[in-house]
Amino acid sequence: MHYPEPIAKLIDSFARLPGIGPKTAGRLAFHILRMKEEDVLEFAKALVNAKRNLHYCSVCFNITDTDPCRICQDKSRDPSMICIVQEPKDIGAMERTREFNGYYHVLHGAISPMEGIGPDEIRITELLKRLGDDTVQEMILATNPNIEGEATAMYISRLVKNFGIKVTRIAHGLPVGGDLEYADEVTLSKALEGRRELY
Ligand SMILES: [Zn+2]
Repeated sequence: MHYPEPIAKLIDSFARLPGIGPKTAGRLAFHILRMKEEDVLEFAKALVNAKRNLHYCSVCFNITDTDPCRICQDKSRDPSMICIVQEPKDIGAMERTREFNGYYHVLHGAISPMEGIGPDEIRITELLKRLGDDTVQEMILATNPNIEGEATAMYISRLVKNFGIKVTRIAHGLPVGGDLEYADEVTLSKALEGRRELY
């Protein structure tokens, strides 16, 4: 199918986004064409503004428009707790639980030998620097419950072994509302591992 160049280019731009195949890219591009010009301008502005005005927090590497970010600036939080996550969006997930009131550190990825991502490619050195002053007493490793996330958690826990910090890993289990027979092996074995006594 040959489209005029502007639409072909738009489809191509959408198709570069994660999780968007050529079909969806086409649908999105044609949707843009049907939108009101002012809405399209608004959308374009939001894209550019997000890129221009957001950067990484110099302390925790969260995405922020202030530096340090609002969480790092919040003095009401518990400085003895630090939660390690892979991506900035994971902070949002943790915050929604309202269960954690410490500070965060965003690694921006996970160790993955398959993809050639080693410890130096993620923000581990910066994490070790933050741990230098004995403020942190507990570190919660909240990397993803998959092979890369597990490997990263193991790697970090070994690195900080002699820091005198309590290192914990979030428990993984079955999703609430899920069905046992549909759980994959990794999830189910992790759920078994994290079993607790009922009485
Ligand atoms: Zn921060």
